[in-house]
Amino acid sequence: MPIETIFDTMEYGTAPEDRSVALQWIANHGGLIGPYVNGAFAPARDDLTIRNPATGEKLAGMTLCTKDEVTEAVQSARAAQPDWQKAGGPARARVLYALARLMQKHARLLAVMESLDNGKPIRESRDIDIPLAIRHFYHHAGHAQLMPSALADRVALGVCGQIIPWNFPLLMLAWKIAPALAMGNTVVLKPAEYTPMTAMIFADICSQAGVPPGVVNIVTGDGSTGAALVDASVDKIAFTGSTSVGRQIQEATAGSGKSLTLELGGKSPYIVFDDADIDSAVEGLVDAIWFNQGQVCCAGSRLLIHEAIADDFHNRLKARMDKLRIGDPLDKSIDVGAIVDPIQLQQIQALVQANTAGQTYHAQTPVPEGCFYPPTLITGLHPADTLMQEEIFGPVLVSTTFRTPAEAVEIANNSKYGLAATLWTENINLALEIAPKLVAGVVWVNATNLFDAAAGFGGTRESGFGREGGWEGLQAYSKPRQPLPEPAQVTPFTGQGAAADDIDRTAKLFIGGKQARPDGGYSQAIFGPKGQLLGHAPIANRKDIRNAVQAQLACGWGKTTGHLRAQILYYLAENLAAQTSRFAERLDAMTGLTTGAEEVRAAVDVLFTYAAWADKFEGRAKSVPMRAVALAMREPVGAIAALCSDQHPLLGLVTPMAAALCTGNSITLCASAPFPLAATDFSHILEASDVPAGVVNILTGPQADLAPHLGAHMGLDTVWCLSGAELTQEVQARASSNIKRVWQGAAQDDHDSWLDAGTEIKTIWIPYGE
Ligand code: NDP
Repeated sequence: MPIETIFDTMEYGTAPEDRSVALQWIANHGGLIGPYVNGAFAPARDDLTIRNPATGEKLAGMTLCTKDEVTEAVQSARAAQPDWQKAGGPARARVLYALARLMQKHARLLAVMESLDNGKPIRESRDIDIPLAIRHFYHHAGHAQLMPSALADRVALGVCGQIIPWNFPLLMLAWKIAPALAMGNTVVLKPAEYTPMTAMIFADICSQAGVPPGVVNIVTGDGSTGAALVDASVDKIAFTGSTSVGRQIQEATAGSGKSLTLELGGKSPYIVFDDADIDSAVEGLVDAIWFNQGQVCCAGSRLLIHEAIADDFHNRLKARMDKLRIGDPLDKSIDVGAIVDPIQLQQIQALVQANTAGQTYHAQTPVPEGCFYPPTLITGLHPADTLMQEEIFGPVLVSTTFRTPAEAVEIANNSKYGLAATLWTENINLALEIAPKLVAGVVWVNATNLFDAAAGFGGTRESGFGREGGWEGLQAYSKPRQPLPEPAQVTPFTGQGAAADDIDRTAKLFIGGKQARPDGGYSQAIFGPKGQLLGHAPIANRKDIRNAVQAQLACGWGKTTGHLRAQILYYLAENLAAQTSRFAERLDAMTGLTTGAEEVRAAVDVLFTYAAWADKFEGRAKSVPMRAVALAMREPVGAIAALCSDQHPLLGLVTPMAAALCTGNSITLCASAPFPLAATDFSHILEASDVPAGVVNILTGPQADLAPHLGAHMGLDTVWCLSGAELTQEVQARASSNIKRVWQGAAQDDHDSWLDAGTEIKTIWIPYGE
C-alpha cells in the first residue's frame, strides 16, 4: 500500500489528558468555591453551578457574592493597600516573581482546569493561555522592580475592581492583576460566572506565594456581583467583556472619579492580498477564527479577500476546515473544543440561522452532541450585512471580497469596532502602507493572534480604551504623584455701559478656519472687574459643535508629519509673541489682574515646548520573546474637544491646543465662559499661522450648555474636561454613546501626561525569518 494511502486512511487515536488531579483539587475544596478575601477562602455556598461545557456535568458549586460580601472584599483591599505600596517596587517584584514560579509549578493543573471549565482544547490552554499568563507575572515583576527608577513620578491608584470574561479566564486575570500589583495597587477581581475555577487555584497560589492578606481578593458570582463591584468604593474599574456591559459600566462610573479602562468587543478584519502566501494565510485563519472556538475578542472574524484569489482561497480554506477535529477538549489531538455554555451556543445558532445572505458552509467533520458548533464559513456577504458588522463570538467566519488596497482599507474600517486587524501580503511595502491606515489597536502582518506581556493590547472606537501590557499598560494602573487640584470656579463680572473702543469689535466663533457667527444668533456681554463692557462673545450651541466637529473630521491633520506640526506650532508661537502687549492688555482687562504679560509669555513657551515634542514623542520597538518585532506606534486619538479652564484664559486654551496638535489631533476648544475674549482674539493668530481649516475650532458661551452635547457627540473621540468635576460628570454621563475617552487634564508642566492623553498605542506585529 502506498504511503500516501496510509496517510489518507489512517485514523486519529485519542490522546486524553488526565483530569483526576483537577477533580481532586475541587474535591479538596468540598466541591464548593467561594470568595477569597483577606488571604483566605471564605465559607462557600452552592448558589450557582459550574459545569464542564463539553459534558454538561457539574464541576463545583459556587457562591453568588452579595453586595455586602463585595464591600467586605473591597474593605480588605483598602486596608492592605498602603502597606503594599509602601513595601516598595523591589519587595513587590519578589512576590510577583514567586507567583510566576508557582504558576509554572502548577501549570498542568491550571491548564487541565481551564479546559474542563471553559471547554477550550488542552493544546491551547497548555501551550498558550497558561504560559502567557505566567509570562505576565514575570514581566511585571520586572516593572515592579523598575518602578522607583523608571516611573519615579507615578504612584498607585489604590484599590482596583477588575471584571473579566470567560474566554481566557486565567490569562485575563494575569493581564489585570500583574500590572495592578506591580504598581502598588490592591485588587478585587470578579471572574466570569461560567469560568471561575483557575482564579480559585490562583487564589491558592497567592497564599503560597506570600501575597499579603488583602492584596488580592476574588469575588465569585454573576453580573450582579460585577455591578456591585462597579458601585463599590474602588479607585478604578478595569473591565473586559461585551461592549453593552462596558457601556453600562461607563455610565455607572460617570462622575464617580473612578478611573476606567474598557477592553470590549471586536469584528476584526483579516485581509488577504492577491500576492499573499495562500497556504500560510489559510493556516493563519485557522488560528484567527477557530482558536478558542472563535470566542476571542480580537478573532479575525471578517475575511476580506482579494477578488482575484477568492475562489481558490475559499476552496483551500474549506478543505482545511474539513480536517479540523472537534471534540473532547481534554483530548490532545483535538483542534476545536466546546462552546463555553449552551446559552452562548444558542446565540451563535440564532445569529447564523437569522442570516439569509451569502452561502453558508459548515465543516464536513463529525460534530459531537452537546455544546459544540462546527467551524463555519459564510461567503458572498456585503460589508453592511449584519453578520459582517455584529460580533458572533463563535467559530463562524464571514467573508467578502475587495479589488484594490484602498477598498480593502475602506471595508476593514467600516465597523464600529477597532480592536485588531490582520493582513497578509508578501509585499512589505504594501503591508507597511496598509497597517497604519487600519483603525485598530493591534495589527498583525503575516501572522495572527500574537500576544506578549511586553506589547500593549487594546482597542479604539467601540472596542474600548486603555492598553494592557507593556509600559503603556502601566499608565492605567498608576497616576502622577502630585494630585491635580480642582480648578477654581470663576463668577463672571457684571456691569453695564458702552465699550471703550470707538469702533465696535465683533468677536466671532472660529469654525473650519473661518470666523463664524453663532448659529443661535445670540451673544453675551463680557464685563471687566469694574463693570466696564469689554465686548460681546458669541454663544455657541449644539449646531456650532456639529459644524466644528465636521470640520475636524475633514481636516486630515492626523496624516501630517511631526516636522510639519512643529513648524506650525512654532509659527503660532512667533505670531503670539509679536502680539504680547495686545493679549496682555486683554487678559488684564478681563481678569483685573496684572499677570497678563506673564501669561502670554507662558503660552508662547507652551507652544515652543509642544513644537519641540512634535517630532520627538516616539513609539518603541518592543522586546518580545519570538522572532518578531512589535512596533508600538503612537497614533493620535482623533477628534478632541476641550472644556478649557477659567484660571488662565489664554494659557488654559493654548495648552490643550498645543498638546493636541503636537500629537496629530484636531481640537474644538470651548473657551473660558467668564473670560472668552482672549480666545476670540486668538483666532486671528490661528488665521495668520497656516493652521489648516478645521484643525482648531474655538467656541464660546456657557460651558454647561455645551458639555452634554460634547459628551453625546458620536464624531468626537475624546473630551478633555479641564474646567472641573461638575462638567466632567455631565460629559461622562453621555460618553458611552460611542465609548468616548474622558480625561481631566494634568499639571501644566506634566508634558508626558498631556502627550499620552493625545495618543494611543497601536501595536504592529511583524514576524521575521523564512
Ligand atoms: P459580559 O460582558 O456580560 O461579561 C463580562 C464580565 O462582566 C463577566 O464577568 C460578567 O459576569 C460581568 N458582568 C455582566 N454584567 C455586568 C454588569 N452589569 N456590571 C458589571 N459586570 C457585569 O459578557 P458575557 O459573558 O455575557 O458574553 C456576552 C457577549 O459578550 C458574548 O457573546 C460576546 O459577544 C461578548 N464578549 C466579549 C468579550 C471580549 O473580550 N471582548 C469577552 C466575553 C464576551 P458574569 O459572567 O458572571 O455574568
